[in-house]
Amino acid sequence: MENKYYKHFDIRNELSKVIENDELFLCYQPLINTKTNKMVGMEALVRWRHPEKGIISPMDFIPIAEETKHIIAIGEWVLRNACMQMKTWLDMGYKKYGISVNISVVQLKQQNFSEVVTGILNETGLLPEFLVLEITETVCMESSNMITRNLMRLKNKGIKISIDDFGTGYNTLNYLQTIEINHLKIDKTFISNFETNVNQAVIEMIIKLGHRINAKIIAEGVETKEQYDYLKQMECDTIQGYFFSEPLLAEEMVDFFDKDEKVIKYPKRFMIL
Ligand code: C2E
Ligand code: MG
Ligand code: MG
Repeated sequence: MENKYYKHFDIRNELSKVIENDELFLCYQPLINTKTNKMVGMEALVRWRHPEKGIISPMDFIPIAEETKHIIAIGEWVLRNACMQMKTWLDMGYKKYGISVNISVVQLKQQNFSEVVTGILNETGLLPEFLVLEITETVCMESSNMITRNLMRLKNKGIKISIDDFGTGYNTLNYLQTIEINHLKIDKTFISNFETNVNQAVIEMIIKLGHRINAKIIAEGVETKEQYDYLKQMECDTIQGYFFSEPLLAEEMVDFFDKDEKVIKYPKRFMIL
């Protein structure tokens, strides 16, 4: 990919400067409850605004950032900015949502990862119950004590854990014994071809499994009404995808917030006693 699209572009070298050059930004994609059709949370997704190449997708730079370990600084930037944004929304009076942040296996293997997360929560003032960490299923396959220890510590603090791209890993279910998982996210490859018998069998199996272990199910990549209707009928709790909304800028997200929930607090001097 690096060679194909960015032939003369030294992506490795430029990745080291994305933070100091202020070239990263976050988008947020709503997660919609299938019973109420209301937003219940959002996922933060990073993008790179390159001065010459334009917007670069995370799929094109996260794998390289993982290889070069720049993901440690980038991941921390993402976490800090997502928590700051969520705290701003909470302070505006929107209190029904949590924010999900993608975490790389490279970050999870850092000895101080749980301290980094709790440090960011303290710094931003965000309560742990509003934070969800998304871990890809492949992470769970790496039976590293460090990963398990970090996840346990974060869980004990009240942070929630989602398993991303569920169904794409292999031989993975053993981690369910160790860590209580809050959400399973059905990978979008199953949703895009949901009409096939095999994919329906997998989707229904994941929903059943998730509910048995008290996890909520999120379907990723829901694009059509047919997919939505099927998932709703199968009692999938939450959906994410272009059918409701593509990832949006922070200011565009406010349209998704439930208008009734905001309690307008008047400053004391305006109160009639
Ligand atoms: P993911 O965590 O599974 O995120 C979902 C991806 O699906 C996002 O792609 C989102 O834009 C895309 N998507 C949402 N709805 C639809 C839909 O209806 N149809 C289709 N075809 N796609 C949909 P995005 O933003 O390009 O991110 C790609 C991947 O990059 C993410 O997959 C995640 O693994 C990684 N990523 C993104 N942000 C971060 C980050 O801050 N840190 C780390 N470590 N990885 C990140
Ligand atoms: Mg994700
Ligand atoms: Mg995913």
